[in-house]
Amino acid sequence: MFLGAPGAGKGTQAKRVAEAASVAHISTGDMLRQEVSAGTPLGLEAKTFMDAGKLVPDEVIIGMVRARIQQPDARSAWILDGFPRTLPQAEALDRNLSGSAALSHVIYFAVPESVLIGRLSGRRTCSKCGAIWHVEHQPTKTPGICDQCGGALVQRSDDRPEAIGKRLEVYRSQTSPLLAYYRDRRILREIDANRSPDVVYKELLKLMQ
Ligand code: AMP
Repeated sequence: MFLGAPGAGKGTQAKRVAEAASVAHISTGDMLRQEVSAGTPLGLEAKTFMDAGKLVPDEVIIGMVRARIQQPDARSAWILDGFPRTLPQAEALDRNLSGSAALSHVIYFAVPESVLIGRLSGRRTCSKCGAIWHVEHQPTKTPGICDQCGGALVQRSDDRPEAIGKRLEVYRSQTSPLLAYYRDRRILREIDANRSPDVVYKELLKLMQ
């Protein structure tokens, strides 16, 4: 499981590691955004919370992850990205959520808060393939166009300044207690994620062995 504040680089790294290791990448944020763009009842309910930078209620998220983890591609191994984010979610995962697979590593992506704000406000996502870019740190060759697929880049609605502050506050109050929870279980590893994506990736592979 990849744990860290918004903008710490969990999504970028989870995509890459999951592809390299051929395991399921379970990102609750991505799943919710798909529900929002498909206009499902779950998406409509979630959107209000997401746009305000708040967490979607635990029971909604836990039900969604339970269904996802039962899919054939996720039966034996997965990387959880952005879940759990609260103690009740972590307890649900411990109890019965994960079926036959168990949580073996929790990797904490440590990044100073001042860096997170710059990363989030400059982040752009490809509307077609989901690739993540940054206007300064990882710009595309043509501004606004994805280098990988030619799709249009968009700014996530919750990466706007009003929502960023709230998300960081929610992280501090509701998600950071999970550090102690997993430290006590001796499965927490920390990575200095305030470095280039390639350096972080190489170290991640070592930590996950
Ligand atoms: P992310 O892409 O992981 O930053 O998630 C975007 C937004 O989706 C969050 O700010 C929350 O509103 C919602 N979300 C994603 N994962 C969870 C979760 N595990 N629990 C509650 N809300 C979540």
